[in-house]
Amino acid sequence: MNEQNIFIVRCGEVALKGMNKPYFERMLVERIGKRLKAAGLSGIDVRRHEGLIFARAPKELDKDAIVKEISKVFGVASISPAVECESDMDRIGEKAVEYMMELIEKKGVKTFKVEAKRADKTFPVKSPDIARRIGASVLKGCKVLKVDVHNPDVYLFVDVRREETFIYQQKIAGFGGLPLGTNGKGLVLLSGGIDSPVAAWLMAKRGMLIEAVHFHSYPYTSPRAQEKVEELAKIVASYCGRFKMHVINILPIQEQIVQNCPEAETTILVRRFMMRIAEKIAEKNGCMMLITGENLGQVASQTAESLVVTDASVSMPVMRPLIAMDKVDIMEKAEEIGTFETSIQPYEDCCTVFLPPHPVTKPRLSRIEESESRLDVEGLVKAAVESEEIVDIS
Ligand code: ATP
Ligand code: MG
Repeated sequence: MNEQNIFIVRCGEVALKGMNKPYFERMLVERIGKRLKAAGLSGIDVRRHEGLIFARAPKELDKDAIVKEISKVFGVASISPAVECESDMDRIGEKAVEYMMELIEKKGVKTFKVEAKRADKTFPVKSPDIARRIGASVLKGCKVLKVDVHNPDVYLFVDVRREETFIYQQKIAGFGGLPLGTNGKGLVLLSGGIDSPVAAWLMAKRGMLIEAVHFHSYPYTSPRAQEKVEELAKIVASYCGRFKMHVINILPIQEQIVQNCPEAETTILVRRFMMRIAEKIAEKNGCMMLITGENLGQVASQTAESLVVTDASVSMPVMRPLIAMDKVDIMEKAEEIGTFETSIQPYEDCCTVFLPPHPVTKPRLSRIEESESRLDVEGLVKAAVESEEIVDIS
């Protein structure tokens, strides 16, 4: 039993899924297994058991690396590296002493409190009594320790189950959410900015598989600007797995707009083309929604009126997970997921290439449609879609 390290994985929201719970748990087990394998951590047994997920790893594998990988899997609420023993009061006492000895040695722990739980209600000792008796065993076995019920250095959790008992001290938080692949696939419009990678991450956290489209205006935008987007996409992929990024030069469309339409409408017109192109790519690739990093009121093209006009260009649902967030909160999230430093590198975006000095902030759909009537919308969209390059993001 002792040749393995054990990790207890709690599933958070997955546990609320009623009849579908086994399906979500199966998906989560599969995702954890895949992720560990992809990180080169092989030989780990991951399985469901009594409403929890247990990972058992060969002792020689790095414990911290395992925790880090599991904590990045969407659907994981928390993880506890644990030790196990037979569900017998004497065995539990011995194991608790051994466990605390190690913590005294490694971390200089001086005080503790036992929190006991009895999942197996047929176990002859009740939870408060388990806590008291195991506490007494630890005090007897580790003379330097004292009990502190208010502010202990360590909480010693004792989880008594039918077949075995688990002892652990930490609950390391995961991201929560739902396992990838339980909520369809969406196409994210990915720029090099702060917002869209966060938007992609948030949707993936709710179980949605991701594919991306990026627009550039080469040679007005540099190849380095695209490399930056690929870097961002790779960070997103480190959470949601390998995906395809469709890359499109939107310059021919921008030039048509600049030549034929009012300057103040340039940005909103370009955005409507981006949406149309994205919708076509989504349809071709099994994506059921578009995802953007738009945020109410952030810039002229994201006022309520502008969003209405942008939306009217497509019939596919457009998800805007950042819509009501403040910029500081989006930035904090970007820091947390690790995209911020890359996002703030100063490379131009295609949207800034023909940025009008005074963009419309309250566009009227009829006026915008009137401007578009001077363009071959369908032909331009078709040509753009046909010109796509595909980058494999892994
Ligand atoms: P971000 O920080 O993500 O760049 P932003 O605040 O710069 O967003 P906009 O440039 O107006 O805002 O873009 C709004 C959204 O439109 C982006 O979040 C993204 O989803 C999409 N978008 C903008 N530029 C591009 C692009 N070059 N390629 C793909 N999508 C884009
Ligand atoms: Mg942008």
